Amino acid sequence: MLEIKNLHVQLEDEDKQILKGVNLTVGAGQVHAIMGPNGSGKSTLSYVLSGKSGYEVTDGTAILDDVDLLDLDPEERAAAGLFLAFQYPVEIPGVGNMTFLRTAVNSQRKARGEDEMSAGDFLKFIREKAKSLKIDADMLKRPVNVGFSGGEKKRNEILQMAMLEPKMCILDETDSGLDVDAMKLVAEGVNALRSEGRSFLVITHYQRLLDHIKPDVVHIMADGRIIKSGGPELALEVENNGYADLLAEVA
Ligand code: ADP
Ligand code: MG
Ligand code: MG
Repeated sequence: MLEIKNLHVQLEDEDKQILKGVNLTVGAGQVHAIMGPNGSGKSTLSYVLSGKSGYEVTDGTAILDDVDLLDLDPEERAAAGLFLAFQYPVEIPGVGNMTFLRTAVNSQRKARGEDEMSAGDFLKFIREKAKSLKIDADMLKRPVNVGFSGGEKKRNEILQMAMLEPKMCILDETDSGLDVDAMKLVAEGVNALRSEGRSFLVITHYQRLLDHIKPDVVHIMADGRIIKSGGPELALEVENNGYADLLAEVA
């Protein structure tokens, strides 16, 4: 599904290297988790995959199915099936959630050469998705994220993900700032979207999210590289012992 090879990234306007050779392969239908100390490059990896400006790829490739993501504009990457859920979802005053989602869905269909969805079909589609994620219809009518609680914002990210039906979903610390109940709701949302044709990359600081979203593989990232990969037990090891032992092992 996603194959990242030898990815090297530096800041565009500063001679600072952030990713120093990331290798990562996520199979179809798999869930991979990335953990690691602050500043290790986890968010940078998700930004570079989604095409955020300000970063320069100096070496390496990132292939989603047969498409080289790094050659594409952000909206082309989205049309190719990539979705990034933000750590801090933005509020967009004056833009209704429903209008926002309809524009997103239809521009993606257009980019894929498909017909726009009619208003009626769209309404049916969004109601179905909202219901399956236990999202209140009221939330659809409000401006995007404006006045939403932390948990509602994150659930709205999951709704966007559900509507765009991506192949590869990246969640960057979607659990940060959430209480346990809100975190469970987010995890439920993700689990509801798991399928054979859809893979997830879940970036998290906390093992407890992985109690709810069971990963196939856990990677530890430090100083711009993946230093260790393993099963879910690796997350427990980090929770119990911190990163010091792993970092020493690698050094
Ligand atoms: P993580 O998500 O693992 O905490 P980040 O990817 O946010 O790590 O950051 C990795 C490193 O790159 C940090 O040292 C951070 O300060 C630096 N960095 C990332 N983006 C920028 C930027 N736009 N300007 C300056 N430094 C940056
Ligand atoms: Mg961080
Ligand atoms: Mg981060």
